[in-house]
Amino acid sequence: GSYFRTLVTGCDTKVTLANGRQVTAINFDNAATTPPLSPVIKAISRFAPWYASVHRGRGYKSILTSELYDRGREVVRHFVKADPGDVIIFTKNTTESINILAYALAAGGKEQVVLSTDMEHLANDMPWRDKFTVDYVGLTKSGRLSLEDLETKLRTYRGKVSLVAVTGASNVTGYINPIPKIARLAHKYGARIFVDGAQWVPHAPVNMKPQHSPEHIDFLAFSAHKMYAPFGTGVLIGPKKCFEQAVPVYQGGGAVGLVSQQHIEWDDPPAKYEAGTPNMMGVLALITAIEALSRLSITEIHNYEQALIEYAIDSLAEIPGVTLYSCQERREERVSLISFSLEGLHHSQVAELLSQEAGIAIRSGLFCAHPYVEKLLNLNEAEIKYYQTHDDKRIPGLARISFGIYNNFEEIDIFYTLLAHAAKHRNHYARKYAYVLSPG
Ligand code: PMP
Repeated sequence: GSYFRTLVTGCDTKVTLANGRQVTAINFDNAATTPPLSPVIKAISRFAPWYASVHRGRGYKSILTSELYDRGREVVRHFVKADPGDVIIFTKNTTESINILAYALAAGGKEQVVLSTDMEHLANDMPWRDKFTVDYVGLTKSGRLSLEDLETKLRTYRGKVSLVAVTGASNVTGYINPIPKIARLAHKYGARIFVDGAQWVPHAPVNMKPQHSPEHIDFLAFSAHKMYAPFGTGVLIGPKKCFEQAVPVYQGGGAVGLVSQQHIEWDDPPAKYEAGTPNMMGVLALITAIEALSRLSITEIHNYEQALIEYAIDSLAEIPGVTLYSCQERREERVSLISFSLEGLHHSQVAELLSQEAGIAIRSGLFCAHPYVEKLLNLNEAEIKYYQTHDDKRIPGLARISFGIYNNFEEIDIFYTLLAHAAKHRNHYARKYAYVLSPG
C-alpha cells in the first residue's frame, strides 16, 4: 500500500477546512476518476519536446510520434490479451467507444436485439436504445445479474440477439460479473458479447481470450482516466471485420484513403474510426499507466484493493443506520467500491459532511446508473416521474466510496470515525447541512 502511494501524484494534498483546520485530503472517489501516476506525468513531460502530428508527415518528430502511437495499440492488445484479429480503436472515453460501436453495429439493421442489463451505467444503455430492439437482463434479489434471466431472454428471442452488452464490474455495487459464463451463454445462442470495462480493467486482470474460444470477449471498452492516465483517452476493441461495413460516425481527414467530391475511399479500421488528429499525449499517458500497473501486477492491485474494501465494509457494517448496497457476503468478487445510505441523512448531506468536516471526497447520487439505483432503492414509476418533473434536491440516491491503489487503512479509519460520529448525532448534522437540500 505505502509503495503504491509513492507512485501516485497528489496523495498528500493539504486542504483547509471551514473551521481552519488543515488536513490531508482523502480521495474515495476513484471510480469517477483517478489521479495520475508520477511515471505518467514524467513520460508526458519527457516527450513534450518531441511530439508532432500522428501519421501526417515525414518529419523526424512526426515519425517518432506515429511509431509511439501505433505501439500504443500493441501495449493495449497485450494488456487485455485481445486477439490478433481485433482492432484497437482510440477514442475519448468509454462513452464515446460505446457510441461508436453502436453506430458501427447498427449497420446490421434495427431488428437486431441488443440485451443490455438492469445494472448498466447509462453509457452502456442509452446508445443502444434508438438503434436496436433493446431488452434488459434482470437482477437477482441481491442486485446481481440473473444468469437465469439472461438465458431465458436469449432463448425467447430465438437467435435474434446479436449482442449482449454487459458491464465487467458495476460502478454502484462493485460486483464483478461472471464474464466467461456470460460469454459462453451469449455465444451458445449466436450472440456476441460487449463488456463495459470502465470499472473492471483498472482493478482486475482481464483476458479477452482468442476469438475461437467460447469465453472470448468480442468487444471491450474502457477509459484511461479511471486508470491513472489523464488527457482524455478511451479504448474500443473488437473484431476488425465488424468495423468494416459501417460508415463511421465521425468523418474527416485521417479516416480515409483518396477522396473526391463524388467518392470517399475509407481507410481500414482502426484508422477509419479515428478521424481528426489523434490524442497522442493521451495514448502515451495510457500506455505508460498500463506498463506501470502491469509492473506492479494487476493481481496484486486487486488483492490489496479487495483487502481495503473488505475492511471498509466491515467498518461500515458496524455503524447503526448504515445500509450497504448490495452486499450479501463480505468476501464476494468485487472491485474496490461500495454504496451505502445512512438513516436520517440524505446522501448529498453525507457527501457534504465528509468533505466539510474532514476533507474526504466521495460520490453521491445515482452514479449515471439511474435504472440500477432506482431498482436497488425500489423506486416506483410515480416517484421517478415526480423527480423528473420537479426540481427537488431530495432526489433519492446513494453514497459511494471507491478506492485506488494509493488509499490505505488509516484513511478508512478516519472515514469510519467521522461517519460513526455523524450516525450518533444525525439530528445535529441534518440541521447543519440542511442547506444542501434547500430549494433554489
Ligand atoms: N461505464 C461504467 C461502469 C462507468 O463507471 C463509467 C464512468 N462512470 C462509464 C461507463 C463511462 O465512462 P466515461 O465517463 O469515461 O465515458
